[in-house]
Amino acid sequence: MIRFDYLEPATLSEAFSLLEQHGDNARVIAGGTSLIIWMRQRLLMPQVVIGLGRIPEFDTITFDRQQGLRIGAGARHRDIELSPAVKQHYPLLHETFRKVAQPRIRNMGTIGGNLAGGDPLTDPGASLIALDAELTLASSNARRTVSVEDFFVDYYQTALEPGELLTEIRVPPPQRPGWSHIKFTPRSVEDFATVGVAMTLRGKAGSCEDVRLALNSVASTIVRAKRAEDVLRGQRLSDDLLREAGEIAATEVDPMDDNRGSADYKRDLVKVLVRRAAEQAIQRLS
Ligand SMILES: Cc1cc2nc3c(=O)[nH]c(=O)nc-3n(C[C@H](O)[C@H](O)[C@H](O)COP(=O)(O)OP(=O)(O)OC[C@H]3O[C@@H](n4cnc5c(N)ncnc54)[C@H](O)[C@@H]3O)c2cc1C
Repeated sequence: MIRFDYLEPATLSEAFSLLEQHGDNARVIAGGTSLIIWMRQRLLMPQVVIGLGRIPEFDTITFDRQQGLRIGAGARHRDIELSPAVKQHYPLLHETFRKVAQPRIRNMGTIGGNLAGGDPLTDPGASLIALDAELTLASSNARRTVSVEDFFVDYYQTALEPGELLTEIRVPPPQRPGWSHIKFTPRSVEDFATVGVAMTLRGKAGSCEDVRLALNSVASTIVRAKRAEDVLRGQRLSDDLLREAGEIAATEVDPMDDNRGSADYKRDLVKVLVRRAAEQAIQRLS
């Protein structure tokens, strides 16, 4: 293991000061489930590691019918999975966090570390896009809001600027009651997804009024499949239409060949899983 200094600020403003002071030499650590692996692999070699674990209320989860859900960036996967408000009002999130890795990782890893890592294989981002979630990014002198969709820039690259921290995830009150989350993991349930699909859908009497669809593990970022949404939005839902949405979604992704399958195989999976996700979302409407 490389040598580094470990600092543990007691407040958010202290964390910002340390980030300013140490600049590129510093890296924040939350649960450490990703960062420690990257450091062991020498992909990152920070001289200073800044622990976020002592910052008060950094892991708070609150729900309000008007404002929706607010999740502190330091909330652990398991906290979100087990939150009564999440279970009751955001079953898509409950289902998603239930499927992240295995309990040991879920007890350590945080939502902030998951999103800030910018890894397109991870699960929560797609579901948060399907739920219209926004992120608060803050530095010592500024605060801004970015949609989750715009947060992911490229492989392991996000909209975070130097000196900024992801502090909060806001999920508006659910807009579309139909939902589906499919994580296709043929090797092991604890594996990253070969393809992941998250969808929310609103409609009645066999028609789709509105829909949001996002996918992970199929491009350099987690992606929203807007053209596939357009196929469904405002239409009567038929088998042919769902099949068409799957076909179109497959043109919006750019998967890589890897040890989970070839790019062609993943594109074929997208066709099937998007159709299946739409079927599940429609079923849940009733
Ligand atoms: C064996 C294994 C299996 C896994 N399986 C899955 C899976 O199935 N699905 C899935 O989604 N993920 C999976 N993961 C990834 C895991 O979810 C993430 O590692 C975890 O959520 C990262 O959170 P963390 O708190 O541990 O982040 P850390 O490792 O502490 O940090 C990760 C990165 O985020 C930065 N960071 C952390 N917090 C903030 C913040 N608030 N603001 C700005 N930057 C920040 C750090 O500097 C670092 O660059 C797996 C990981 C492992 C090791």
